Amino acid sequence: MKRSFFAALAAGAFLALSAVQVAAQTEADQLKNLKPAKYVFLFIGDGMSLPQRMMAEEFSMKTTGKGLTINAMPQQSYTKSSSANSFITDSAASGTAIACGEKTNNQRLGVAPDGKRKLESVAEVAKKQGRAIGILTSITINHATPGAFYAHNESRDNYYDIGKDLVNSGFDYFGGGGLQGNRNGDNDLYKIAEEKGYTVAYKDEVPKVDLKKADKLFVRGHNGALPNAIDRPEGEWAIADYTKQCIDFLTLKNKPFFVMVEGGNIDHHGHGNDAAANLRETIDFDKAVAVAMDFAKKHPNDTLVVVTGDHETGGMTLGFANTEYSSYIQLLENQKCSGDEFKNKVNRLADSILGPRRMGFPPRRDQDNQDAQAAAPQEEKTIKFDDIKPLITENFGLVFDKFDNRGNAPKGSLTLTRSEQERIEEAFNRQFPDGKRAGIGGGDAITNTVVAIFDNKASIGWTSGAHTALPVDTSAYGVNSNVFSGMYENSDIAKKLKAIVSVPVK
Ligand SMILES: [Zn+2]
Repeated sequence: MKRSFFAALAAGAFLALSAVQVAAQTEADQLKNLKPAKYVFLFIGDGMSLPQRMMAEEFSMKTTGKGLTINAMPQQSYTKSSSANSFITDSAASGTAIACGEKTNNQRLGVAPDGKRKLESVAEVAKKQGRAIGILTSITINHATPGAFYAHNESRDNYYDIGKDLVNSGFDYFGGGGLQGNRNGDNDLYKIAEEKGYTVAYKDEVPKVDLKKADKLFVRGHNGALPNAIDRPEGEWAIADYTKQCIDFLTLKNKPFFVMVEGGNIDHHGHGNDAAANLRETIDFDKAVAVAMDFAKKHPNDTLVVVTGDHETGGMTLGFANTEYSSYIQLLENQKCSGDEFKNKVNRLADSILGPRRMGFPPRRDQDNQDAQAAAPQEEKTIKFDDIKPLITENFGLVFDKFDNRGNAPKGSLTLTRSEQERIEEAFNRQFPDGKRAGIGGGDAITNTVVAIFDNKASIGWTSGAHTALPVDTSAYGVNSNVFSGMYENSDIAKKLKAIVSVPVK
């Protein structure tokens, strides 16, 4: 009896061990049998996990009858996002893991947890292998995620030094948002980039760039991040347009390439708990992936497209307390601008009623004094809750004063219940106590409350203003896409990609 127990235990231990060995062996074999992939794309949705993908999918199905390209990719797998020092990662640590293949601490960029040891990114490996490199993002180009592919710094906040690493990278194409934390004069990084052989194009020049004339390109659509997808003015380039430009430019070089594209604003609207703005960014990002997929279908034996997220943002859930088994995600179509933009609209309306805000400087002489006197009687004016209702209805479709006798409103409609309306009124009174501004800026209580109620009516819930530890989905299509299967660490993505870009291409 005893003997067979130990024998069974030993056999069990042997089996368990061999299962682990088999898995490790399978992965090693997979990476040994890689095929040459001339064109490698990596797309990173910042703050994009399964809820973000499914919300955008459902919205897209309901409004256009079509799902997302990323959700239709043949290879789908799970990726764990935790960093070296935290179950919940930031974008610097996750960017570093995805780019370099080693986990580091939150805040570190392209370096080990000690803040010193440099980690080599897949883009740097690819460049050594003779590939052309493109790095693109919809936010600032020296932000954490793109930075992880070319920079090495103990802190993601050292924007200027990260930008210096960018201009010294020798990478072929940078596109999307501009630099943040730049300096003037001789320290201007755009000027230094030009000295290093980059053709730098700015906003209006972007569509006119002569791809054949440039050696290296730095195409900044804006000083900072690109506009929110939901607020983008007609005719402005989206991240998909930059992706197309990057492919056209790198193709002219007649070399294998590696391209990383970040959808950076998904995260921003996750932090802001703004579902409609969030899903428009995911759809924008999906369109950029579709550009690469079109290219991949023209070069099916040479191309790999990988899509991942760096972490989840906002603790988003699809289903809210009182919506039960119904979902009303299509209601999000009624939101006409981002929460960011709505805050501006509220302030502009208040300015039109109360007069311009005083910035706290003592009035200067002459004209300014006269202006101040002229403006003085306006200070007696007050803004009322009724003044703000039409603005809310116009931008969110929310309907005031139509709840029934018991204060209820039909589910799946944008009619506000009595208690929802009271919450908005309370927020109004916080932002404009006694109809006056609460102070400089006045806070954004109205926008935050309106967006929260609107999202809940559309059956979207949020649990956090920060990131969460939910795994992300990694999708792949094309040559070697089979190695992106199972559940693995974000650092494994870089290990796989480094192996893939190192296979010689004839
Ligand atoms: Zn974030």
